[in-house]
Amino acid sequence: MRIDVVTLFPDMFSAYLGESILRRAQAAGLLDIRLHNLRDYATGKHRVTDEPPFGGGGGMVLKPEPIFAAAEAITANEPARPRVILLSPQGRPLTQAVAAELAGQPWLLFLCGRYEGVDERVRAHLVDEELSIGDFVLTGGELAALVVIDALARHVPGVLGDEHAAARDSFATGLLEGPHYTRPERFREWAVPEVLRSGHAGRIARWRREEALRRTWQRRPDLLLTADLDEADRLFLMTLALETVEAQNGRTTS
Ligand code: SAM
Repeated sequence: MRIDVVTLFPDMFSAYLGESILRRAQAAGLLDIRLHNLRDYATGKHRVTDEPPFGGGGGMVLKPEPIFAAAEAITANEPARPRVILLSPQGRPLTQAVAAELAGQPWLLFLCGRYEGVDERVRAHLVDEELSIGDFVLTGGELAALVVIDALARHVPGVLGDEHAAARDSFATGLLEGPHYTRPERFREWAVPEVLRSGHAGRIARWRREEALRRTWQRRPDLLLTADLDEADRLFLMTLALETVEAQNGRTTS
């Protein structure tokens, strides 16, 4: 899959994209990530990319001409068109499902805003969709673009060493993932749960499922409304609910 990024700060991407899974994915040709410096598309002696907003109000706004010029140069002579995504705190919230959907696209073009953001004509006439990584405001779209690229890369076939890893991740099954343990079996006075050392695949799978249900119940009960649950899951959740009620009663009577 191809990903182009237009940014005023391409160097911000090098360290993260140059390590670990994303580096290997690019080396293997699974991800073709191309960084473009917005300033290269600005004209004039000073290659100005931002100006104060019309109407006053302070701050600076990224000008439309270099952004359109960059997108047009990137897509020139290409038989297809990328999906153009503007990183924005006002966009559609990024979720695991959105990341999986983006991973199915052949070509994405990310536009990173800065300062007060981009001229509205970019959003209105160039951008296909705006994407937010959360209800907070960053200083620029670079970190947001990296977050989106990282999250979607996990869904590109072949990127993860374990092809089933993404399917087990939190949210993939509609639940949070349960706890993980590794060596040593005992660290200080804390032992790894016996079931994980039992070698009994069926018991381990049930334990993992129940721990995922417990975690989701405790931390994100809203997810249980849409999770795919079977009869055994529902029974287990009922025992968790009873435990919670009993614990609350214990607190009010003591
Ligand atoms: N003035 C804008 C507003 O209030 O909506 C915020 C601009 S922000 C300081 C500068 C740039 O950072 C944005 O254009 C966007 O590209 C990026 N950005 C900030 N927060 C973001 C978020 N939560 N998700 C995605 N991008 C974000």
